Amino acid sequence: MSEVVTPPELVFHTAAEIQDLTAELRRHTESQLFRQSLAKRREQLEALFHMIDNHRAEWQAALSADLNKCTHESEMCELRPVQREISTALAQLDSWCKPKYPAKELLYTTMTLETRSTPLGMVLLVGPWNYPVRLLLKPLAGALAAGNTVILKPSELAVHTAALVQRLVARYLDPAVCQVVLGGAAQTTSLLTHQFDHILFTGSGRVGQIVLRAAAEFLTPVTLELGGKSPTVVLDDVDPLVVARRIVWGKMLNAGQTCVAPDYILCSAAMETKLIATMKQVLTEFYPNGLRRSESYCRIINPRGYQRLSELVATAKDSHTVIGDRSEWNDNERFVPLMVMTDVPEDSPLMQEEIFGPLLPIVRAETTDDMIAYINKRPHPLSLYVFTNNRAQSDRIIGHTKSGSVCVNDIAMQIEAISLPFGGVGASGMGCYNSIYTFNTFSHVRSVATNPLRFPPDSAWKVRYPPFEGSQNRW
Ligand code: NAD
Repeated sequence: MSEVVTPPELVFHTAAEIQDLTAELRRHTESQLFRQSLAKRREQLEALFHMIDNHRAEWQAALSADLNKCTHESEMCELRPVQREISTALAQLDSWCKPKYPAKELLYTTMTLETRSTPLGMVLLVGPWNYPVRLLLKPLAGALAAGNTVILKPSELAVHTAALVQRLVARYLDPAVCQVVLGGAAQTTSLLTHQFDHILFTGSGRVGQIVLRAAAEFLTPVTLELGGKSPTVVLDDVDPLVVARRIVWGKMLNAGQTCVAPDYILCSAAMETKLIATMKQVLTEFYPNGLRRSESYCRIINPRGYQRLSELVATAKDSHTVIGDRSEWNDNERFVPLMVMTDVPEDSPLMQEEIFGPLLPIVRAETTDDMIAYINKRPHPLSLYVFTNNRAQSDRIIGHTKSGSVCVNDIAMQIEAISLPFGGVGASGMGCYNSIYTFNTFSHVRSVATNPLRFPPDSAWKVRYPPFEGSQNRW
């Protein structure tokens, strides 16, 4: 466990400050909107890149202080993905922004048809605490690439990171382009009374609903990146050791506080026995000196989150813990080990709520039909994981279920692919982002049709002009 650092005092914005700040940014937005040059976007993206690169140690320290995130995990899951997103936006900016000329029907032969991506205006990005750099700055890169102005609202629970975001954004980005608002529910509520041209919210479904309702007031389009219970199906034909390694890795990232973490495993009784044995083996392999002493393992964000997990375990009566032990938990450090549980009652909160921690129930199901039925009884998850060597089986499971994304034979890797959109469906969210999808999310695709006045002569269009009497036969 890294040494405890006193959290910085976050000075939350007042409603009056939020009013002034949004009004000021709105003024800049209206004056910049039509001339937000590519050079300006490039300048801001480069500044954002340097904001990470020049302060790596500070970002790593903030993530360590907030979540005990080690350098490797901070680089792998937060800083590098953000920089990759910025580099992609810089490399692709010209091509993304170029007008596109779609194929034309015969009728439009002489016309020019094009689509132009234009900035939406002033956008609001509200972030969660679990990946407090990645989930705020990746969308920011796309919003800047698309030429918008942005208000960032980091989560107040990742205190050190929020303070750093505020300090460095003010230093690196143009205040006429990007502003940070610090605060929690009250400040977000206050922000939502102002008009934005798009809101991207990442967080819980409960707050997602609040955001959507507030946005409806202004008909503001919204992207909601929410959570859910991501099922992890393991069929009998796999090598359990490889699968155990990938599941344990994906579950242990950020101590399970990952929106796409495996929430529960679905497998046969025979596979359950093999997975329990191999997961134990993998834990020793990954954490040779024990989990608590390992520098590679995060802590639960705050006492409230720790207490929530404790209650989840306590309410799962009649379940069996087959890996981990309640006695290993440590309140002061907010340390929770991997707890693999079987026979968890279906109606217990553990099987009803998103777990968001290192608790991993195994649900027994003998046939793929049973697995599909189990998944479909619940709201659509953010991710679905299927482990099998049988393509027909994985296709069948994918084809009979719904989820934001799918990863076959691995965990979370689908969200790192720059060419794939990331987003939920139904209860796990709406809309998506990542690379060009972020650019599209924050752009209005404007259709422009141009008809020449001189050639061909206007007589070519005669067919559409009245009088229509006697022209029925032309159809
Ligand atoms: P949260 O909904 O509690 O908070 C998210 C943001 O909303 C924070 O900035 C917070 O200050 C603000 N907020 C909190 N209460 C509010 C209220 N009453 N009114 C207005 N704003 C409010 O979520 P969290 O605890 O920060 O994050 C955990 C959740 O986020 C999990 O459900 C997880 O699955 C989800 N998540 C989703 C993704 C994704 O990309 N789909 C990524 C990470 C986390």
